Amino acid sequence: MAEKKSTPSLMDNIINLCKRRGFIFQSSEIYGGYNGFFDYGPLGVELKNNIKQAWWKDMVQRRDDIVGLDSTIIHHPMTWKASGHIDNFTDPLVDCKESRMRYRADQLFFAPVIVGDETIGYVSVLEDENMQTAAEEQAKDLKRKLGKQGEMKAVVLKDYTQARPDEYALIPSPATGKPGSLTPPRAFNMMFQTYVGALRDETAVAYLRPETAQGIFINFKNVVDTGRVKIPFGIAQVGKAFRNEINPRNFIFRSREFEQMEIEYFISPDADWASLHKGWIEYCMNWFDSIGIPKTCLSTYDHPKEKLAHYSKGTTDIMFTYPFGVQELQGVAARGNYDLTQHANTSGKSLEYFDDSTKTKYVPHVIEPSVGVDRIFLAVLSAGYHEEEVEGEKRVVLKLHPRLAPYKAAVFPLVKNKPELVARAEALYKKLQNRWNVAYDAAGAIGRRYRRQDEIGTPFGITVDFDTIEKDDKVTLRDRDTLQQIRLSEDELIAYLSKKIDG
Ligand code: ATP
Repeated sequence: MAEKKSTPSLMDNIINLCKRRGFIFQSSEIYGGYNGFFDYGPLGVELKNNIKQAWWKDMVQRRDDIVGLDSTIIHHPMTWKASGHIDNFTDPLVDCKESRMRYRADQLFFAPVIVGDETIGYVSVLEDENMQTAAEEQAKDLKRKLGKQGEMKAVVLKDYTQARPDEYALIPSPATGKPGSLTPPRAFNMMFQTYVGALRDETAVAYLRPETAQGIFINFKNVVDTGRVKIPFGIAQVGKAFRNEINPRNFIFRSREFEQMEIEYFISPDADWASLHKGWIEYCMNWFDSIGIPKTCLSTYDHPKEKLAHYSKGTTDIMFTYPFGVQELQGVAARGNYDLTQHANTSGKSLEYFDDSTKTKYVPHVIEPSVGVDRIFLAVLSAGYHEEEVEGEKRVVLKLHPRLAPYKAAVFPLVKNKPELVARAEALYKKLQNRWNVAYDAAGAIGRRYRRQDEIGTPFGITVDFDTIEKDDKVTLRDRDTLQQIRLSEDELIAYLSKKIDG
């Protein structure tokens, strides 16, 4: 039976599989790699494209109320002034002066170690699932080392942004284990800067977009004026985003160059935003479920009111149970009319919308579902990776939804030394290839060929055998997950695959 591998080895297995089978490589590997950047190999690019295509089809093509956009990666720098990114798109950075390591202050946790009534020192840990246990171990060690007697109070962790100035010098650096080398936290802007044009001075500074959303807002009027959109409607965009993350980690989960799929869904200021917001959360969770990210692995996290930006009415994250913990997969934010108002004020151009149904003018509000392609990619692999025993043999299988699988099917001639059989298999392969990405494999025992395809998530194996050419003109179709085999004529096969793959 299928058995999910326990963490953390599941993550190791996924990373190994990605490298071994050509899904993901570390960027610039021949130069020792480049932290926070990843390249997608031959199978990875297929899976990633399929995720984007499935999203586009379901969010744009199959809906009447959403249109698409593809804006530039570099916008006029005023965009980022107006949106607040130049002033506020920061993470709290803390340096260790001794080791030269850098940490995000909100991911570095510390606690005083209190024995009786005396604070005997501090412990620090980096955020992870086991940090509480690790901090308690450190506290016990410290007590033992200092030879303190008495009862130790509970170790209460806080993140470094909550440290008092008098505590900075007392908190040990996670790198050295000793206090005195950590700096106070300071705001670090995560936007990558570049220069546009021949001059390299302040006037030429530009930014790589840290999100695709602003490209939508600055094109709002263009879309309204040229399309036939009527509120409520959405504009969707898929594209690269860049963030100079202080601490890229967990493989492709947090990287410095990644891809986003964002929708700005414009609504009337009088609309019931709360129920529309809730509707979008449900809609997105159902969509994840439909592409093989089961609801049992999803949960929601409502950002506390006091932590929201002043303009935000509510933000809910859709969380996925990754092998390294429950983390944000998608954000769904109700952003009021902040962005359009900011761009209108900064540009001096009106971004009001004339509502024909009520004969009123207003600046629309938005609901913003925003998701990272790479985070979906990792969620799909985490949910799909299984190790099973089949006929006494271990098999690794990626149970990818047929819409997402890099290869939709693999065609096998039963043997490779029978020209008639091979010709027939090749012809079928070529025919299917016109329509879908399919694989052809003639090498080795059929069982081994199945395993190779199981590991990369190919949902259907199609074998051309002696019966095909001598008897019934049918092929055997093997289902990756149920292992069931059925015999189908070519027409039946194409109809079957269409239904399973194209939905
Ligand atoms: P986090 O809190 O994890 O840094 P965020 O709240 O800053 O994420 P948003 O600004 O809401 O993220 O971005 C929208 C989506 O873009 C996220 O839900 C996530 O799927 C994706 N995303 C954001 N940052 C990264 C990153 N560094 N690497 C990969 N995907 C990312």
